[in-house]
This record gives sequence, structure tokens and C-alpha cells, in this order.
Amino acid sequence: MLVEKEKIKTIALKSELSAGDIYFLLSLEDPDEIKFLGEIAYALKKDHVSNTVFFRGLIEFSNICTKDCFYCGIRKSNDLPRRFLMTKQEIVDAAIFAHSNHYGSVVLQSGERADGMFTGFVCDVVRTIKDKTEGKLGITLSCGEQNDETYKMFFAAGAHRYLLRIESSDREFYKMLHPSDRHHDFDTRLNCLRSLKEIGYQVGTGVMVGLPFQNREHLVKDLLFLKQIDADMVGLGPYIEHSQTPLYGYRDQLWPQQERLIMTLKMIAILRILMKDINIASATALQAIDGFGRERALKFGANIIMPGLTPRVHRKDYLLYEDKPCIDEDREECKDCLEIRIKLAGDKIGYDTWGDSKHFINRNHKTHLYV
Ligand code: SAM
Ligand code: SF4
Repeated sequence: MLVEKEKIKTIALKSELSAGDIYFLLSLEDPDEIKFLGEIAYALKKDHVSNTVFFRGLIEFSNICTKDCFYCGIRKSNDLPRRFLMTKQEIVDAAIFAHSNHYGSVVLQSGERADGMFTGFVCDVVRTIKDKTEGKLGITLSCGEQNDETYKMFFAAGAHRYLLRIESSDREFYKMLHPSDRHHDFDTRLNCLRSLKEIGYQVGTGVMVGLPFQNREHLVKDLLFLKQIDADMVGLGPYIEHSQTPLYGYRDQLWPQQERLIMTLKMIAILRILMKDINIASATALQAIDGFGRERALKFGANIIMPGLTPRVHRKDYLLYEDKPCIDEDREECKDCLEIRIKLAGDKIGYDTWGDSKHFINRNHKTHLYV
């Protein structure tokens, strides 16, 4: 046990980790050693990005999607959810709630649509939020794959961060998770990430952990990919099954949910060791497995939390997976509950600040912080 802890420490202190090093850390099973890995990651977080946690109010503003990803509960072929697009007023109201409650930033997330009516609407909403909050509220978009022109339009409207998970960095495995057509192309997704960076966004990507047929080699590859693509922000969370999706047919292949949770925590800790100054989100999906999953992720190196701001009436129609937490809580309850939990975890909350990725700032040698 002592020997293993020495080895964990030695690996964590290396300037470059090999695939073998990462595999070793991902394979830790002794709870005491996993806790030790978390403590190292937490100390690195404190040193490099501090123990201040930033809020991104999450507004899931539309579940209308033109894609059919095999894992996702709002895929276009699922007839069960009532499809919605929040009105501009509803979205702006949610953003103003975030601003008045000192959140600093919001994430506008939706299913994927590339039609002009939708992209124009998003631009209008972004501009209006910026206008109403005197430019003070930071805006992250997560609206899937778009062409360069659209990404530029969103950026010009005032969005400065974009989240687009690669889902899995293994090309062959990616193909198994998506229909084989031009709308679900691995290279398109990669090119989108490259374009976003070129345009000047802070770019976030990430993967799901614990998918059917996923193995540790895939996860090692994912971590090396995140490093190689030089992500500014990462959101990685456990895959959770949804009965109205094709992947549900393979649920007998899944690791138990607790294992998916622990593997996600190890992934977060290793990522913090690999990329010390990035922002790492504590995924909401963690909380679907463990009531304190998000706080546990903070202890393993995550520093971003995304409190839900989607109006209650729409939450039951934005179920990416089953057992999604907090679908009946209102925004106030959600905020109060999180504040207490974060303080109990020993972290502070960074109010009224964008909480931009230090990695992005270091990469660009210029500050985007509004304090
Ligand atoms: N449509 C955009 C996209 O795909 O990038 C943004 C919205 S999409 C719902 C956001 C993320 O939800 C995806 O990147 C995926 O990783 C995650 N997701 C979808 N289904 C999931 C599931 N069953 N379990 C866990 N995460 C899931
Ligand atoms: Fe649509 Fe995103 Fe779900 Fe894929 S993951 S089906 S693009 S909402």
C-alpha cells in the first residue's frame, strides 16, 4: 500500500505522463489509494486555480435536435419528450436570475440545429443578455456542431466560451456510438473544436465515462487527447443509460453505476495532474449516481459547477438520461443547496466573476476577467 502511494506520488510529480502511467492511476482500486490520488489532485487545484468554485447557470433552452446519438434521451427519434424551444423572454429571465444572484456566467445548451432561424435566434438571445447585464454576464454556448460562419456570429454576439464534447476520442468507438452518416462524423467534430479555438473561444470538450464496450485503454486515450488538443475547459461525466435509446439494449455490458462514478472521479483527478490550470466541470450526471457526486468531484480537482436554471416546466423534457437530479427543485432551492454543499466540501464560491480558464489566459497572455 505504501509502495503504491509512493508510485502514485512519483507519477503525479512527473512533467509528462505516459499512457502506462495513466493506465496505472486509472486502475487503482483500493479506496485509500483512490482517496490519496484525489488529495494530490485537490492540492494541485488549490495551487494552480485555487479552491474557488465558479458557477455557470445552466439553461437548457431547447430539446429540438436534428441528430440521433445512440446514448442521448433527446435524440430526434425519441418520440416521448415534448419538444420545446424556450422563448427569448424565458431565456433572458433565467440569465437575469443568474446575474442578480451573482453567478457570473451562464451556459446556454440545446439540441443541435443548424438552420438560420435557430442560429439567428441564438445570436439575438446572446446579444440581449449581454445588453441587459451591461456586458457583465459571461456566456458559454453548447449548441453542437455549426459551421465557421455561425461560430463567428455567436462569438461576435458576445459568447466567449463553447462546449463541445468529443464524447470519445477513439474514432472507431465514436462510430459505434453514432449513426453512420454525414451528420455524425468524427472528423467534423474535431474540425469544429479546431475552428472554435481559432476564432478565439475558450474551448471546452470532454467525454462520457462508463459507456458500454468502453475500456480503460479508451479512457487513457481520452485523457491524452484532452491534453493534446489543449482544452481550456473539460466536462467529463458518467454515462447514464436511458431506456428510450439504442444503447439501452447493451445495458448488460455496463459497469455498475458506482464503478462509473469512481472511474469518473479518477479521470478528473488524473486530468488535474495532466492539465493543472484548466477549468474542470463537475458534471450534473455525477449527482444522478450519488447525492454528493458533484461535491466529491470538487475534492478530486473539479472547480466548476453548473446549477440548473432551466424552468421547471421544461426539465422533464430535457432528460438526457434517467434519474436526472433536481428536476423538481426551483432555482432558489438549487442555489441555496449548492452553496451549503460547496462550503461543506471546503471550497469557496467565486461570485460576480466570469471565472475564465486560467489555461486560456496563460495561453493568450491577456486577461478576460471581469471582477
Ligand atoms: N447537442 C449538443 C451536443 O451534443 O454537443 C449539446 C447538448 S448534449 C445533450 C450535451 C452532452 O450531454 C453531450 O455532449 C453528452 O456528452 C451528454 N449526454 C448525452 N446523453 C447522455 C447520457 N445518456 N449520459 C450522460 N451524458 C449524456
Ligand atoms: Fe442531440 Fe446533443 Fe443529444 Fe446528440 S447529444 S442527440 S446532438 S442533444
